[in-house]
Amino acid sequence: MRALLLLFAIPAFSASLDIYVVDVEGGNATLFVWPSHESLLIDTGNAGAAAARDAGRIEEAIQAAGLQQVDHLITTHWHGDHFGGMAELASKVPIREFIDHGPNVQPGEAADTFLKTTYPQLYAKAKHTVVKPGDKIAVAGGDVRVVTSAGQTIKTPLPGAGQANPYCANFKAGDNNAEDPQSVGVFISYGKFRTIHLGDLTKNKEFELMCPNNRIGTVDVLLGLHHGQASSNSEVLVDALRPRVAIMNNGTRKGGEPDVMKTLHSSPGLEDLWQLHFSVLSGQEYTVPGMFIANTIDDPQAAIPVAPVPAPPPGPGAPPAPVHNGKAYWIKVSAQQDGSFTVTNARNGFSKTYNAKR
Ligand SMILES: [Zn+2]
Ligand SMILES: [Zn+2]
Repeated sequence: MRALLLLFAIPAFSASLDIYVVDVEGGNATLFVWPSHESLLIDTGNAGAAAARDAGRIEEAIQAAGLQQVDHLITTHWHGDHFGGMAELASKVPIREFIDHGPNVQPGEAADTFLKTTYPQLYAKAKHTVVKPGDKIAVAGGDVRVVTSAGQTIKTPLPGAGQANPYCANFKAGDNNAEDPQSVGVFISYGKFRTIHLGDLTKNKEFELMCPNNRIGTVDVLLGLHHGQASSNSEVLVDALRPRVAIMNNGTRKGGEPDVMKTLHSSPGLEDLWQLHFSVLSGQEYTVPGMFIANTIDDPQAAIPVAPVPAPPPGPGAPPAPVHNGKAYWIKVSAQQDGSFTVTNARNGFSKTYNAKR
């Protein structure tokens, strides 16, 4: 009898932090599920006609994880590819806490109307939290720390971090819009496993976060990457974090730009880049093997050209990006307390385990 009680007191060895990187076509939706079944969703995909599609794809991940609700929803910033599916998702799945950086700072009709009329109704029966750097998001069995929000970064290094960042000397400032630099960024650890998601944080804020001292330290998995766009992903961030794995939330013609691919592939310690999509902006020259890519397009090409295809000038005359409205697949990370983790491509079942580093 005594032995039996002891057995129940020992935590299950298979318990993992599971991360579902959901394909929302160059937007963001990343779901974290702890062994306690507590959950954190970062962003809800695209607005407009895409909202139902993206909310449906997120709901599929929620169901696969065996969840009845989302405990915490972080909206990194007020762009339509990050809050777009929120109302649709909230109509299907209860959301208990709505977390954001505060007011929209990039005036725009869609975001301003959403914040004035829809958002207050969604959080009226739940909790609404505006976070600042240094805040923790309380999760049973999880450690989630806000490292950026509303254009501010943590000033105090995370435990064990704070070393001088050698990449700062060569930093080149970048361009950005107003809302991307406002992104709520979180650092998440589970035992020895470490990961970070910075929303669409742009280069100049990466510099503020990482220079002159690296306040984060290293990570096992780098998430988000601003869809793999060149306005983010500076060496001061990517090289200093030394991710073993990066997972890019790109679209069919958004992200995967040659400059970003070069930065990632020359990052010291990177073992693999996984992508939600083939991107025509990469071409064969810069893309990763297909087994690391979760989604194709509805009308697949027979072959991808070797040279990257440059993005057309933006505007109403631009030809549409290749469409993917059909079945979508996520990339799943299962992380163990010892720091080891397994990444799985749901499209082809390809899976790779990264052993704990000593
Ligand atoms: Zn897709
Ligand atoms: Zn975005």
